[in-house]
Amino acid sequence: MKITAVEAFQVAWNPNDRPQQRSAFVLVRTDDGISGIGEASPMQGGRASLGMIRDDIAPMLIGQDPLDHAVLLEKAMHTLVKLGPEGALTGALAALDIALWDIKGKRTGLPIYKLIGGAWKTTIPFYASIGGNGERSVEQVCKVVEQRLKDQPAAVKIRFDNTRTSLDANISGDIAKARAVRKLVGDGFPLAFDANNGYSIGGAMRVGRALEELGYWWFEEPVQHYHVKAMGEVAQRLDITVSAGEQTYTLPALADLIDAGVRMVQPDIVKMGGITGLLRCAALAHAHGVELVPHQTQPTIGHAANLHVVASLLQGTKPAEWNDPSTRTHAVFENPPVPVNGLFKLSDEPGLGLRLNEVELKKRRID
Ligand code: CA
Repeated sequence: MKITAVEAFQVAWNPNDRPQQRSAFVLVRTDDGISGIGEASPMQGGRASLGMIRDDIAPMLIGQDPLDHAVLLEKAMHTLVKLGPEGALTGALAALDIALWDIKGKRTGLPIYKLIGGAWKTTIPFYASIGGNGERSVEQVCKVVEQRLKDQPAAVKIRFDNTRTSLDANISGDIAKARAVRKLVGDGFPLAFDANNGYSIGGAMRVGRALEELGYWWFEEPVQHYHVKAMGEVAQRLDITVSAGEQTYTLPALADLIDAGVRMVQPDIVKMGGITGLLRCAALAHAHGVELVPHQTQPTIGHAANLHVVASLLQGTKPAEWNDPSTRTHAVFENPPVPVNGLFKLSDEPGLGLRLNEVELKKRRID
């Protein structure tokens, strides 16, 4: 089997929106008619990753055997390493790795979770990941959380997005929202708080202590992600589990985060490594007794790929992330992932298990 084409393109969430919000997909075709799909992190529409795929990586892959994906993508990584392996390049390679695993599954007639060693369970609970709470009033935060509880999540995470150019902007306001959400859901319901890098070490300690009082499950990215030692210091000083790693793009960088003291890591399948990379992260985390709870905010390909890996994790401790209950990019698939009674069911169809609707894709595809 040989790779004959590598197509990298954006998909409009809604063809009528101006300006359009877009996802970054890759479609790899082979000479025996099998094709695979993948997805890169959609920062700025994923244009940087898509450009690298089209101009630099696709020429290395044409004519190669897709089953050699790990060797092929390591070669590409090391050829292009001076582009900076932190972000756009690893996103590009992640998209391709997912697409080549999809091909491997279709070629063998097996779902990816079978190829990577089997699933502990094929119905997977999720947590509702709710962004934008920095801007909302206490009442608005509670209203949004209440809406998302209808999907029957196993937990809720409230995210405090910010510009990252100022720290500790509204600590008492943030704590008030955390308290109001705890009151809304009751004492027993699992909650997480995502600071999105919004605090100094001192600010993070203050918020972390409040979250401990309120019985929150984990405290995500309290300080700037690039201050790795500071992240580790906060993690070590607080009792609440501190998590980080969604902005970590290589295995050595993940090792540094663990080394600094972070005990729950969150690499993202569409930002680094794809399925191959996330499995390596899982081995590294397990070797250190650290929780691996992947970050994942893309609703179709990224989500499906993530579920295959999450289902295979030994001692999976937290539900899978589900960011976006909207139907963006759902139209492009005949069977997009949708939870039933609070659970996602892993498909036993080959590869990722997603069937592309090529007619809808054509309408939304932006090359
Ligand atoms: Ca986060």
